[in-house]
Parts: sequence; structure tokens; C-alpha cells
Amino acid sequence: MNVSIDKFSGFCWGVVRTVQIAEDQLAHKDAATNRNVYVLGHIIHNPKEIQRLADKGLETITVDDFPRLAHSGAKVIIRAHGEPPETYRKAWDNGIEIVDATCPVVTKLQERVRKFWDQGYQIVIFGKKDHAEVLGVRGVVRDQCVVVKSVEDALENVLLDRKTVLFSQTTMDRPTFLEIRNALKGRISELIVDTMEEIATEFHVKDTICGQVSGREAQLANFARANDVIIFVAGRASSNGKVLFDVAHAANPRTYFVETIDEIDPAWLDGANNVGISGATSTPQWYMEEVREWVERRGLVTS
Ligand code: SF4
Repeated sequence: MNVSIDKFSGFCWGVVRTVQIAEDQLAHKDAATNRNVYVLGHIIHNPKEIQRLADKGLETITVDDFPRLAHSGAKVIIRAHGEPPETYRKAWDNGIEIVDATCPVVTKLQERVRKFWDQGYQIVIFGKKDHAEVLGVRGVVRDQCVVVKSVEDALENVLLDRKTVLFSQTTMDRPTFLEIRNALKGRISELIVDTMEEIATEFHVKDTICGQVSGREAQLANFARANDVIIFVAGRASSNGKVLFDVAHAANPRTYFVETIDEIDPAWLDGANNVGISGATSTPQWYMEEVREWVERRGLVTS
């Protein structure tokens, strides 16, 4: 049995950067107090990597923990997803030092959204309402935006009665984003026919899907087709994990999603000569290596 890891899978540069910032903070912990380093929410959507960093002293907290850490010299990391402005204000109020590891791609999205909102545009975001990144963006515009997750959702909830701009959460899938764009454009054309209605005189579309996700799709589909079976490793909370899994599964129906090795059903490997391991932008390389070793051992046992 030949087992290989998709060379385009694993941490994106934004996650590499965030984990490196956390590692640096952990390496420079105050030796006198040996105080933990804190992170707001899970540092990435991967339980294995969360545990590895927790073992080094990275403690996951929420904003509700700020009062107990107030004025204690605590450092709190903001993860790649970013945070709403309110979080920075609360940290300031509690005398907490923020270490900002927001991915620059997300910072850029927040800046662009803020710019259009300041100019009076209706903000529409293709994304998941309660995803951490979207919560950050919602905070930037004081929740004065519409978050949609499908074409139906957009047509039902976006009132095109004023100038509007459509953005995307960075980890959503581009085909659905383009469908939503087309549906809203079509709706504006319909409204123009009835001149009695107020309509969006401007409709802008900003494709803010991260190239680190969309750029992997074609390569992943090729990789999936080149193997008999794909084990796709990702945290269940990972948005891009779901998007990339769907891509692999469409290319090869014998693609299986697992979060941990003990979820692998050996029967999946029956008759397979080539097994591929792939993962999300938050899947650590070291864990995919462990999966590969497990599959290789299994291959030896069953052959
Ligand atoms: S997927 Fe893109 S936006 Fe998200 S952390 Fe990675 S580089 Fe940043």
C-alpha cells in the first residue's frame, strides 16, 4: 500500500504565523511567575494542536475571564480569526495586554468592510453568522449588516433598497459566493423594471475569500482523483475543512473525514493501493504524519 500526504495541505501561512506568535509568547513566559499565556477562543480549529499548545501553558479563555485577569500582567493572544473592536476596549479597561495575532487577510477584510460602512453602504457578508471571524466583522459595523449563507437566504433577507456591497468570510466556497452575487444582481435588474421601488443604485462585490483556501481546491481535487482512498483530517469546527473536504469528496467519493486517528474505519482501506492524506489549513503536518504512519502499519497488517 502506498500512502502519501498531500503536499499542498496543512497550515496556511496565517495559521503558521499565529502558532509562531503563541510559541514565542510561551517561550518567553515570565520565569518568576510561570504564568500561563492566554488565548481568546481556541487558537485554531484543531483539537490536537490545541492540546499540544495547552501542554506548554497556553490557556483558552473568553472575554468573560478578563475581570479575573485584570491588572495582573496577563497577556492575551487574539487568534487569526480576529476580534470585534469591543474586545480591545474591554482588554484596555481591564489593564490586559493584547498580543494581536489576527491574520493580516482578516484585518484587511475588516478594514474594507469598515470603509464601505462608513460611506453608508449596506453590508452583506456571505458567511456563518456565529463564526469567530464573522463576529469580528459584525463588531466592526456594530452588527449593522446582513449575514447570508445561501442564495435563498440572500434573496429572502437582503433588501436591495440602497447602495450595497457584498463580502465573503475568508474561508467560504467561491461557487456559492458567485451564485449569491448573480442572484442579487438579477434581483436588482428585476427591481429596475418597477420604478416605483427604491433600489440599490450601486452594487459592489468584493471577493474576500482567502487564496490559501481557494488556491488549494484544484490541487486537492487532483490529489483526490490520483488516490483510491482519501483520509481528510481536520477539526469539525473548521470552516475551510468542510469546504476542502467537499472538494475532495466530489472528486473521489471514497474520501473520509476524521478529526482523530481512532475515527478511521479500517474497512475504508479495503482493496486500496494508494491512500492519500490531506487536511485543512488548520491541520498540523505532524498529525498528518501520525495518520500516515497509522495507515502504513494497517496496510502491512492487512496485506
Ligand atoms: S485561511 Fe487565509 S485568512 Fe484564514 S488564517 Fe489562513 S491565510 Fe489567514
